[in-house]
Amino acid sequence: MGTHVDTINCPNCGSEDLNLVIDTRPFERTWGLCHECGFQMYPKYSQMDLDLLNDYRKEWNNDYDYSESDEEFKHPLKELPPFTEPDY
Ligand SMILES: [Zn+2]
Repeated sequence: MGTHVDTINCPNCGSEDLNLVIDTRPFERTWGLCHECGFQMYPKYSQMDLDLLNDYRKEWNNDYDYSESDEEFKHPLKELPPFTEPDY
């Protein structure tokens, strides 16, 4: 099954009534809510800005020792690719 539920202690109020829903497909996400204090958690999706993305791309090239002649080399981008927030 891709979904299961659990109950844990709330990190905010210590109540044992924090319900979790954990989905494992297409990747693991967790939702939680505490029925005592209102603590909540949920997945958040966003897109980093262009400068940060290019920093990470540069780091990727360094980490894997890729040079510009390698097919895997990630060139700096001039604009951000399209981004659509997943609806799950
Ligand atoms: Zn709580």
